[in-house]
Amino acid sequence: MTEASKQPRSTYYQAFVRDKFRCVYCEKDILESFDSFAASHLDHLKPESARGPCEDVWNRVTACGVCNSLKGAYDPVPGEHVTEENFATAVANAKDYIQKKRHGEANTSYFRDYQYWLEESAKIKAQSKR
Ligand SMILES: [Zn+2]
Repeated sequence: MTEASKQPRSTYYQAFVRDKFRCVYCEKDILESFDSFAASHLDHLKPESARGPCEDVWNRVTACGVCNSLKGAYDPVPGEHVTEENFATAVANAKDYIQKKRHGEANTSYFRDYQYWLEESAKIKAQSKR
């Protein structure tokens, strides 16, 4: 046995394998393209701002850039740490929170800004054709 093989694999490695190389929130295949991989994150399920630990694999999950942005500092298990036992619940809570933002059901500046720019860009494009 070499010295290197005795080392535990990194948190990143363990989380990425456990999550089957997909975003835990929307199931996007992180390896579908280089851009997808480059925009992915090892998200803190319980955010650092809520004292979510960095080195605990149960607190770290694979996330696409969009889900990570929409999740922000949301804490899926207030008052608790994420453990193997409540991991699925924590992911499900965060997934629900993100989905509501993604579909405009939650009050979010992202969705308002998107609607604004859809209309504004159409006006600007129409004006520039005159
Ligand atoms: Zn995602």
